Amino acid sequence: MHRITVIGGGFAGLTAAITAAEAGVKVTVYEAHHTLGGRARTAEGPYRTNDGPHALYRGGAHWTWLKQRDLIPPLAPIPPLEAARLRLRHHGALRRTPPFAMLKLLRPGLPQAPVDLDYLSWATGVAGEEGARAAANYSAVALFHHDPGALSAAFVQERLRRATKLPPEAHYPRGGWASLIDRMAARAWNLGVRMETLSRVDVLPTDTPVVVATSLDAARRLLKDDSLTWTGGRTVLVDLAVRTRRGDAFAVSDLDSPGWIERFTAQDRSLAPADEQLIQGQIPIAPHETKADGRARAEHLLDLAFDGWRERVTWRREALANGRTGAVDLPGTSWRDRPAVDRGDGVYLAGDQVAAPGVLSEVSFNSALAAVSLALGRRQLDLKRA
Ligand SMILES: Cc1cc2nc3c(=O)[nH]c(=O)nc-3n(C[C@H](O)[C@H](O)[C@H](O)COP(=O)(O)OP(=O)(O)OC[C@H]3O[C@@H](n4cnc5c(N)ncnc54)[C@H](O)[C@@H]3O)c2cc1C
Repeated sequence: MHRITVIGGGFAGLTAAITAAEAGVKVTVYEAHHTLGGRARTAEGPYRTNDGPHALYRGGAHWTWLKQRDLIPPLAPIPPLEAARLRLRHHGALRRTPPFAMLKLLRPGLPQAPVDLDYLSWATGVAGEEGARAAANYSAVALFHHDPGALSAAFVQERLRRATKLPPEAHYPRGGWASLIDRMAARAWNLGVRMETLSRVDVLPTDTPVVVATSLDAARRLLKDDSLTWTGGRTVLVDLAVRTRRGDAFAVSDLDSPGWIERFTAQDRSLAPADEQLIQGQIPIAPHETKADGRARAEHLLDLAFDGWRERVTWRREALANGRTGAVDLPGTSWRDRPAVDRGDGVYLAGDQVAAPGVLSEVSFNSALAAVSLALGRRQLDLKRA
């Protein structure tokens, strides 16, 4: 087997392309958009917002893989003074420290959270209901769901641990994720990968093994397979630039209901013009809620943590991310129950809603490695051990 086709040039597609090319296979990547990166694109222009990812978590397998290939771009560390400006909304007011009961859920040596039980029930047994609710809402920063307490306890607890680790796991590529994607694309190019942008694939090729590295929705349409579904979140994204004011919060986590607002220029001044700050908020909403509901909650958090922000706004943008923020696992399910990577007949899935472990984009990465190793006829040793 000497050739592989990869459909989709996002983080998963580029990971698959590099892995296959390193194994000596000829790779062609087809990307529908005019640039590579998918949800890891960073907007052009004065306000360098990310479409999707912000944090590159150090604890994932992708970190080591990227580091070994010198693909991690310069990072923007959070200055300690800024980090100290993390605020938590609890019972309607801002505070600097988490409620004591929530800390019980971060103790080392806690028994493994079960897959079969919902998070709120399990965590209430450990920390009482107030601590459990605060922890569930905090975890939303890494799972983007309106009701984290209703999800599998094992799923939520893993994300809570990753998002609260000290020193923090979250790292920020300077200039946004585009700088990571640029490096990956250059590596693929140097390995001889053919990358065709503005090339939407409507029919699966049959002359080579195919890695379908699109969103699960796009894969369902492409493979004409209605079983390709999994639970995801709906999140209102509010991006704004404001004139700089000393004392603005670095980030606000809502412990009363899921929501997170972060001032990304605190760590990376290159994301907005001088004297302006780039703030991005993510507010998960329930199926019956509207974008306006999410916006109102975001504005409430902004009122609490960014004095006079309404008069300081210089630019604003809003979007609804529907099923674009990765998989969430309901009680009784884990990543192993998501749509399998191997679809038969030489077709393999990669993406953040398929059967692979990890947090957010790590699922895309791990499934891309699995897809290529299956396409090359190797065993999925790493996934089986995870
Ligand atoms: C608001 C938000 C915040 C996030 N925050 C984080 C975070 O902090 N950390 C983190 O790790 N992850 C985060 N994520 C998740 C992360 O963005 C995704 O997991 C990751 O980017 C998915 O990469 P992918 O390659 O699997 O899919 P995509 O990025 O969606 O790439 C799929 C590509 O396939 C292309 N395509 C689709 N159909 C076709 C076709 N028929 N033919 C050719 N090409 C096609 C698309 O144009 C796209 O470029 C966040 C996501 C969102 C939305």
